[in-house]
Amino acid sequence: MRCTQVRKHLSAYQDGALSERQRAQVGEHLAQCAGCAALAAELQQAWELLDRAEAVDTSPGFVAAVIRRVQADLPQPAWQAPRWAVAAALIVCLSCGGLAGYVHSKAPVAAPVTQLALAADVSRQLGIDAFAPAPADTVAGAYVQFAGFESGR
Ligand SMILES: [Zn+2]
Repeated sequence: MRCTQVRKHLSAYQDGALSERQRAQVGEHLAQCAGCAALAAELQQAWELLDRAEAVDTSPGFVAAVIRRVQADLPQPAWQAPRWAVAAALIVCLSCGGLAGYVHSKAPVAAPVTQLALAADVSRQLGIDAFAPAPADTVAGAYVQFAGFESGR
């Protein structure tokens, strides 16, 4: 079994949810691959940490009360448009969207490059490197490794 396959099965492996054959294959790989073994250890630590977290005891109406409070804090519209105006605006928007889609489908494929350049420019202005790989010793790095986004063996 390859690293990417093993990493996809790690959670099920630790939950004991794999077939006997898969469990043996993952276990055999973990015994030979230090990278996957380290990732399995990190995942196990995360599960143990979550097991120690205290459960929050909520009253039966807690969720409904939170939703009511959030809705009460949302700004209310100053006015409400008549239904015919909403329908007319929707038709105009759909027509413009269809026209834009048609025009875009006929345009050369320069838009994604422009968007990437814009995103890179914004990242540079904000002083962040959005396209840098996630550091391996962070949660993001562990997730990238776990999800198999990095090339496996
Ligand atoms: Zn591996």
